Amino acid sequence: MIPYRAPLDDLRFVLHDLLEVESLFATLPACSPVDRDLLDAILEQGAHFVEDVLAPLYQSADAEGCHFDPASGEVRTPKGFRAAYDQWVEAGWNGLTAPTDFGGQGLPEVIGAVIKELVDSGNLAWGNYPLLAHGAIEALRHHGEPWQREVFLRPIIAGTHTATMCLTEAHCGSDLGLLRTRAEPQADGSHAISGSKIFITGGAHDLTRNITHLVLARLPDAPVGSRGISLFIVPGLRTGRDGVEGEANAVRCGGIEHKMGLHGSATCVMHFDAAQGWLVGEPHRGLAAMFTMMNTARLGVGLQGLGLMQRAYENAVSYARDRLQMRAPGGAKFPGRVADPIIVHPDVRRMLLTCKALVEGSRALALDGAALLDVIAHAPDADARRQADELLSFLTPIIKACLTEWSNEVVNLALQCFGGHGYIREAGMEQLVRDARITTIYEGTTGIQALDLLARKTLQTQGVGLKHVLTRIVEFCSAETGNAALTEFIAPLAQAAQDWQQLTLEIGRRAAANIEEVGAAAVDYLLYSGYVTLAYWWARSVAAADRGSQDAAFRQAKRETARFFFQRILPRTRSHAAAILSGAGTLMSLPADSF
Ligand SMILES: Cc1cc2nc3c(=O)[nH]c(=O)nc-3n(C[C@H](O)[C@H](O)[C@H](O)COP(=O)(O)OP(=O)(O)OC[C@H]3O[C@@H](n4cnc5c(N)ncnc54)[C@H](O)[C@@H]3O)c2cc1C
Repeated sequence: MIPYRAPLDDLRFVLHDLLEVESLFATLPACSPVDRDLLDAILEQGAHFVEDVLAPLYQSADAEGCHFDPASGEVRTPKGFRAAYDQWVEAGWNGLTAPTDFGGQGLPEVIGAVIKELVDSGNLAWGNYPLLAHGAIEALRHHGEPWQREVFLRPIIAGTHTATMCLTEAHCGSDLGLLRTRAEPQADGSHAISGSKIFITGGAHDLTRNITHLVLARLPDAPVGSRGISLFIVPGLRTGRDGVEGEANAVRCGGIEHKMGLHGSATCVMHFDAAQGWLVGEPHRGLAAMFTMMNTARLGVGLQGLGLMQRAYENAVSYARDRLQMRAPGGAKFPGRVADPIIVHPDVRRMLLTCKALVEGSRALALDGAALLDVIAHAPDADARRQADELLSFLTPIIKACLTEWSNEVVNLALQCFGGHGYIREAGMEQLVRDARITTIYEGTTGIQALDLLARKTLQTQGVGLKHVLTRIVEFCSAETGNAALTEFIAPLAQAAQDWQQLTLEIGRRAAANIEEVGAAAVDYLLYSGYVTLAYWWARSVAAADRGSQDAAFRQAKRETARFFFQRILPRTRSHAAAILSGAGTLMSLPADSF
C-alpha cells in the first residue's frame, strides 16, 4: 500500500471555493473568528497526524487484531493504537468541535468532518474508538440533566473516557422495539441495568481507564414496542452525582467478534448485571434521545465511506501509473518502456474516473451536510435554522447510505485496477474492501436508511426536505443560465430535478393505493436521490473551479470529471426510475415458500 497522502488540494477547494465557508462563518457569530488561515492550519496539522501516526498502523492492526482475555473480560487493542490515542488527546483533536463550556474548542462542525475524513482514510478501525464521543456529546448536551453534563461530558470531551452506543441485542437489530434489557429504579435515583448487548463498538479496550456506555433499556412499566424504551448512562466505573469514580460497575465484556474486517476495532458482547445506570431525559423517550446520537453517527459513517474511497482511489491511481501491461489501443503512448502503463486503457480509465467522480462528489455532499450542522447550531435567524434542519434531515440518509454504497463500489473498482495483486494481502486493497463492507450495515442498513428517506423524510412530510434541495438546484440553474461554460451541465441537472419531483409524486400516488410500493421503491429512490444530488455538486464544482484560484490542470480535471459523471453515472437514475415504476408486484408476487 502506498503511504497515505491527505487530499489537501481538493479539501481546500471544497471548503473555500465551493462551500465558501469563510463567508458562511461570517454570518454565524459563534464561528466568525474562524478564518481561512486557521482552517488551513488545522487541516495541515490533521493531515500530518493521520499521515505520520494513524495511516502507518492500518495494515499491522488488521493483521494483529484485538486481544480478549476471557478471565478478566479485558480487551487489548493492536500495537500502536494506545500511543496514537494519547497523541490524539494531547493534541486536542478529541474536543475539536465540542462546546467550550465543557472544555471543547467549539470549532465548526465542518472542520471536524474534514478531520474525520482524514482519520477514516488513515485508519478506520482506530477511528471507531473516538467516533462515538461526538454523538454522545450531542445526546448528553441536548437531553442530559445539568449534573450529568458536568460529570460525564467533560471526560468524554477531554478524551479520558470514550463512549459507546448500546442498542443491539441478539434478537433485535433494525427493530429496536424488540429490545429486552431492563432498568429497575433504585433508592438513590439510579437504575439497575440488566441484559446483554451484542456488536458494541469499543465496548471494552485499553485506550482509556473508563468508558461511558449509553444504553437503551426498558423501565418496569414501559409500554411494549419502541415507545417503551429509555436511555441510560452506564459508566464503566460506578459514578455518583458528585462525579467521584468508584469501583468497577457491573458491566463486563463477554467476548469480541471475529469479523470480516475492521479487525483493530473491538466489537464486543456486553453483559450488564444490575449495573448502575442514570436515566437520560424522559422515561420511555430514549429513542428520541438516542436519535440525536444516531444522526451524528450516521453522518460519521458516511464520512467513513468517503475516507475509504479516497484511500482506495489514491492507491489505484498510483498503481495504474506504474503498472505496465500492453500498448494503448491507438499505439504506444510510452514507446521508451516495454509496455504502456495501464492508465492508458479506456477500461482502467472508466474505473478510475468512476472512483474520482464518486469520491470528490461525495466530499462536497458530506461537507455541505456538516456545514448545515453549523447553520443549525449558530444561525441567528430561526427560519434559517429550521430550513437547514429540514434540509439536513433529508440529506442524512442519503449521506449515510449512498456514500457507503459508493464506497463499496469504489474500493472494489480500485482493487480491480490492481488485477490479481489487488486480491493479495500485501497490496492492502482487499483490506479496504473488507473494511468498507460494514459501512452499509451498521448505523442502520441501506434498506433502513432508504425507508427513512422515502417514508419518514419525504412522504410523511409532504416532501419538505426535498423541496429545499430542489429549490437549491433551481436557484443554481437560474443563476447560471447565461453561463455558456456550464450549459452542458445545467440543462440535464434541471431536467433531473424535475424528473425527481415527478417520480416522488408518482411514488406517493402509488403508495396511497398500496403501501408496499414504498418499501419496494425505497433503495432505488435513495440511490436516484443520491445521483441527482451529486449532479448538483458536480455542476457547482465546475462553476466554483472556473471562478477559483486553482491552476488550469485542476480546473480541467473538475470539468472532465463532471462530464464523465453527467454522461456515464447520472444515467443510472434511469434504471432506478424504471425499477421503481415497475411497481411492488415483481417483488411481492412470489410466495415466501417458493424462494
Ligand atoms: C462491526 C459492527 C459494529 C457494530 N456496532 C454497533 C454499536 O456500536 N452499537 C450497536 O448498538 N450496534 C452495533 N452494531 C449493530 C448494527 O447496527 C446492526 O447489525 C444493524 O443495525 C442491523 O441489525 P441486524 O444485524 O440485527 O440486522 P436485521 O435488523 O436483522 O436486518 C437483516 C436484514 O433485513 C433488512 N431489514 C430488516 N428490517 C427491515 C425492514 N423493515 N424493511 C426492509 N428491510 C429490513 C435489513 O436491511 C438487513 O438487510 C454493529 C454491528 C457490527 C457488525
